[in-house]
Amino acid sequence: MSDSEGCLFCSIVKGEVPSTKVYEDEQVFAFEDIAPKAKVHVLIVPKKHVASVAELADSDSRTLAHIVDVARDIARERYNGSFRLVFNTGADAGQTVFHAHAHVLTGEVLDE
Ligand code: AMP
Ligand code: ZN
Repeated sequence: MSDSEGCLFCSIVKGEVPSTKVYEDEQVFAFEDIAPKAKVHVLIVPKKHVASVAELADSDSRTLAHIVDVARDIARERYNGSFRLVFNTGADAGQTVFHAHAHVLTGEVLDE
């Protein structure tokens, strides 16, 4: 189920909670992770609230594909094009914010 009420990332998209914006278009919003796990750690979220990437794959595969394009472009602009793309999906996998988001990790040689 999708519930955007009280959702942190919906508030960030709306500008109600401050963030360091990296990129924005009609479909997605990208911003710096507040607790970076790599030299460059950007979150890309669909503007429309969906709880996880599994839901996004069901409802809007076009936006999911677009997130990969945006990740690629960030990694080209901020580093040499190499990047790790992570979607924690479900609490057991470490998802803590239940608005779909891609972690883009780049900017350096990453640990395993
Ligand atoms: P996940 O554990 O996959 O749900 O990822 C949630 C991510 O959101 C974590 O990497 C947090 O550091 C990040 N985060 C939490 N609050 C904020 C915030 N206000 N601004 C930017 N990133 C945040
Ligand atoms: Zn949301």
